[in-house]
Amino acid sequence: METLKRDRFTCQWPGCGLMTGDTSQLVADHREPHRGNERLFWDLANLQTLCKPCHDGPKAKLEARYGA
Ligand SMILES: [Zn+2]
Repeated sequence: METLKRDRFTCQWPGCGLMTGDTSQLVADHREPHRGNERLFWDLANLQTLCKPCHDGPKAKLEARYGA
């Protein structure tokens, strides 16, 4: 929630920038996967606000297969 407020409820994905007051459409995303690491999990610098379509779309694809 701190992350969403800091980012003014705006998707941080480059080229998206969707702004919504509907927090069910926003996700606090970990830039670096925390893999259970508490410091990374709570580190605000490691968190960014993404809208659902970006979180479930480009980001997931990027992590899954876009190496190039
Ligand atoms: Zn977005």
